[in-house]
Order: sequence, then C-alpha cells, then structure tokens
Amino acid sequence: MAVGKTFIVEKTCPICEQTFRVVKTRSRIPVTQRDDDGCTHYVDFNPYYYTVWVCEHCGFAADEKTFTTKIPDRHLTILRAVLLTKNIKIPFVEERTLGEASTAFRLALKFLDLIHGKSSKKAKYAHQLAWVYREAGDTTQEHEFLAKAAEFYEDALMRESFPIGELTDNAVMYIVAAINWRLGERQKATTYLSRLISDKGVREREPRIHDKARDLWGDIRAAKKK
Ligand SMILES: [Zn+2]
Repeated sequence: MAVGKTFIVEKTCPICEQTFRVVKTRSRIPVTQRDDDGCTHYVDFNPYYYTVWVCEHCGFAADEKTFTTKIPDRHLTILRAVLLTKNIKIPFVEERTLGEASTAFRLALKFLDLIHGKSSKKAKYAHQLAWVYREAGDTTQEHEFLAKAAEFYEDALMRESFPIGELTDNAVMYIVAAINWRLGERQKATTYLSRLISDKGVREREPRIHDKARDLWGDIRAAKKK
C-alpha cells in the first residue's frame, strides 16, 4: 500500500503549461533488499512506480529532473506538436497499478525517442521498468527491458561523456555486467567484470565498484562450478 508513503504536489507542465498533480515518495522507507544491478526493495512499497511524472492534461511523461529543468525550445516544439494535437488523456491516480506504472515508463521512453534523447536516460527508464516487472514476478517483461537497458547503457558508454551526475563509466560497466549475468550472458558479464577488476585506477579511485565487480565475479564462478 502506498498510503502514508506518498504525498501529492502540484506542478506546472512545461508542455501544456497547465497545473497537474504528482505523487511523490516520502523518504526513509525501510529497505529490505538491494539487488546486484542496483534495484532496491522496500517494505510494502515500490517507489519505482512513481519515478515517471505524467501530466494528466497532455500526457507528457518524464522523470522529475526533466520536468523541473528547462526543456530546450527545439524539443518543446517537437513535443508540443505531438502532445497538444493528440489529446492524450492520462487520468491522475494516487496509487498506480502495474499497468499504469508501465504506461508511464513506456510514454517517457517514447517521448525521449521523439527528441532523440540520451541513451543514458533511456537506459534508466528501461532499467527501472524492468525492476517494476521483477517485483511483479513477470520475468519475460523484466528480461525484455533489462536487455533494452543494457543496450542503451552500452550505447551511452560509446557516445556520452561521463560522469553523468554521479554515474561514472565504470559504474555503468558494472551495471551492464550485472544485467548480462541476470540475462544468462555469462561471457559478456565476465568480459566487463575482468576489465573492471584488472583496472588499477578503478581499485584506487572507485573501490566500491571494484569490490562489487569482484563479488559478482565470485558469484559467477561459484555458479559455474555447480
Ligand atoms: Zn501537460
């Protein structure tokens, strides 16, 4: 149940300029588990359902950062041309279902495509949607979006300059390895991990990434022996 764990705020949509409602997650919800690819599980609540904001008037969907940072004019032109003519109505709900959470992520991915958005952001949406399916126990959809996320992350590694926020290229390599391991792509996972483990710079400057890579490497070796 989301009751007590969320609250509603009003924001102005950058596309249609109307006021819309957003469900925000309260901080300090107890964590129950962290998966090797970064997915965090909480007591009786999944905050990933609310990562993507959706304007209830025009249907624009994106993360909080996109909504609260100035959108370049050329992107506004493209997005308005689509959204203000299509009359997409996404009703506001205080508590999203799996279907509504999935729609929010899929819309966000679609709008990023329209403006040729960055792969690192597409990766984030696809990865979090995979986590939503993981919690729901839908392995087929989880794997489909994990595979997309890995592809977007790899594209980001080639084309974008890191760090992106706090995300370093080594952290992304680790995530790609963890995703590939989950998808049964052991060879690909170990290729990335061995690169991270043998890099002295990673060990010195990002010991956490180094340790996580070493732990996952150990898990993969142990699983191979079984
Ligand atoms: Zn709007």
